[in-house]
Amino acid sequence: MRRSGRMVAEILEEVRQFIQPGLTTREVDLQAAELMKKRKVKSAFLGYRGFPGNICIGVNEEVVHGIGSSRRIQYGDIVKIDIGIVVDGWIGDTATTVAVGMVSPEMTKLMISTEECLRVGIQAARAGNRVGDISAAVESQAIKNSFSVVREFVGHGVGRKLHEDPQVPNFGSRNSGPKLKAGMTIAIEPMINMGRSEVRILADGWTVVTRDGKPSSHYEHMVLIREEGEAEILTCREAIALT
Ligand code: MG
Repeated sequence: MRRSGRMVAEILEEVRQFIQPGLTTREVDLQAAELMKKRKVKSAFLGYRGFPGNICIGVNEEVVHGIGSSRRIQYGDIVKIDIGIVVDGWIGDTATTVAVGMVSPEMTKLMISTEECLRVGIQAARAGNRVGDISAAVESQAIKNSFSVVREFVGHGVGRKLHEDPQVPNFGSRNSGPKLKAGMTIAIEPMINMGRSEVRILADGWTVVTRDGKPSSHYEHMVLIREEGEAEILTCREAIALT
């Protein structure tokens, strides 16, 4: 999973650099497919429960599970890219939010705050802690900045399957939920809204958008719980173990 993690992080970075105003989200999706093909890996999302895209891509109010479409990316948008691949049977799953040109100060704050949510979530991902410690850390960080947490979609265990136990919600109370053990690999993925937390699903059956139409931000890392200390981030371009 270090390999699948590193590879998906590399692809995510290349897709991030590809994004520019004027492109449709479908063009970005197809570029991601091209990058996967180049590395001879497959999308973990394409066909998953019938999902039609190679990646998940969403703009502004689109939270997660967006399908590449004719929507054009504009200067000032934030674009969420979520990529999953399979490498020798192992999943790599990571997501980021990209600012297209100069975005509003509120959007910048939302992005920074969501990344902070991910960071404190990872810091809580230690052997002996419980899933609720991650959830509570993420939630309190979001609330501190007056943002709200999406409740319908959550992080997850990950391995040979895209979604394994345990679920890793971005809200909850400390010292609750399953115990974290060394060797576990989980995906922590805060989805944080600028406005209210409520979301709805578009008629395509997939795209999750905020009910109030305000922007949402999403970051995701796959981490490995270690015997001691902080979890190892697997979805880094270089295998960096934080100590
Ligand atoms: Mg995920």
